[in-house]
Amino acid sequence: MASEAPGTRGARAVAQPRLLKLKEMFKSKFGSIPKYYVRAPGRVNIIGEHIDYCGYSVLPMAVEQDMLIAVEPVKTHTLQLANTNPLYPDFSTSVNNIQIDKTKPLWHNYFLCGFKGIQEHFGLSNPTGMNCLVDGNIPPSSGLSSSSALVCCAGLVTLTVLGMNLSKAKLIEFNPLRATDVKLPSGAAFVIANSCVQMNKAATSHFNVRVVECRLAAKLLAKHKGLQWDEVMRLEEVQAKLGVSLEAMLLLTKDALHPEPYSREEICMCLGISLEDLRTQILTPNTQDVLVFKLYQRAKHVYSEAARVLRFKAICEEAPDNTVQLLGELMNQSHGSCRDLYECSCSELDQLVDICRKFGAQGSRLTGAGWGGCTVSIVPADKLPDFLANVQDAYYKRRHHSEAPEKQNLFATKPGGGALVFLEA
Ligand code: ADP
Ligand code: MG
Repeated sequence: MASEAPGTRGARAVAQPRLLKLKEMFKSKFGSIPKYYVRAPGRVNIIGEHIDYCGYSVLPMAVEQDMLIAVEPVKTHTLQLANTNPLYPDFSTSVNNIQIDKTKPLWHNYFLCGFKGIQEHFGLSNPTGMNCLVDGNIPPSSGLSSSSALVCCAGLVTLTVLGMNLSKAKLIEFNPLRATDVKLPSGAAFVIANSCVQMNKAATSHFNVRVVECRLAAKLLAKHKGLQWDEVMRLEEVQAKLGVSLEAMLLLTKDALHPEPYSREEICMCLGISLEDLRTQILTPNTQDVLVFKLYQRAKHVYSEAARVLRFKAICEEAPDNTVQLLGELMNQSHGSCRDLYECSCSELDQLVDICRKFGAQGSRLTGAGWGGCTVSIVPADKLPDFLANVQDAYYKRRHHSEAPEKQNLFATKPGGGALVFLEA
């Protein structure tokens, strides 16, 4: 491999047969041989759900599934994209006139974002063309970030072709977040199981409603404490401005907000604004018609989940004898909070989490945005083979998920040293 994507430390190298197959397909597609192969992994969020956009840290880990791109620079100014999966059609464009049609969720848009991002970052006026063949095995729309892996991989492809050898340190700069390693317990595996319910983020407004509910909760809490509420956008800002603990924020949430859903009129009254102000200055275009907002529940989820992430990290560092059990309990609490307070689970995810716990997981929770997608479970290493066999039988064999090969739906990821990063906002 000519280049390594960020976050691949500890991940297994791309299997040789896959590379050879990609090379053969590249030859038949473009009539030439690729010059580089670039990969970027998917990731699973172990704990810390729906709190990143509220300003809090989360705990993602790279998975082995990845986006792999074979590339050959060409002398023309044409970018040609092909995919090993016939679901994703060929695409071709001039590199001097890249148009991203944001109205349609087309796969090549993700590639173009990565390509353009590098072009703009380095102020390149005359980029070279290239032929690319993309091969991905991250289950899409399942919360393992197949889309981000494609954007990152395309960015790395572009850098590689331009001959820009970014050092690792610079690659971290490419990402605006700070990263810290957290060492996970060696006696446990993290198992990812796909509920096989897809959640298309571009096609639903669930996600945006939650973002707006958190924003409104932050404003009401700020107003309650006499802060400059109109500048506040995130729940973390309220905590930072008050300079108090997450526990104190949970008490404040209880004092200042009520569990009954808030109507738009009540919110306007609390903040002293008009309905028009609410719609134009606080709501997003696709939440204009939402009539009620649950503020207490969403804020309680966010502050308690942020505290669980810190606790998770502290347990990993202290590494007591019952580490796996303690981490499992936190993951279970996280799922309960996502299900009951944030309401981002679904019956399939709840069922899968129950099955995983029944067959030996110390903890199990939904991961990613929710409303479908994957669960992540912590399983003692000695229980792993039985666990995999039993979950396979109880969830997958009894259903008819024939669209995707089974091994893509249930797999273990053993974290190696440094394979996990801890991101701080
Ligand atoms: P997630 O990032 O959680 O997997 P998204 O809905 O954000 O889910 O992104 C899924 C989209 O990413 C797909 O609809 C497709 O456009 C793109 N994508 C995923 N895998 C591939 C692939 N192997 N080849 C091309 N595009 C892909
Ligand atoms: Mg995505």
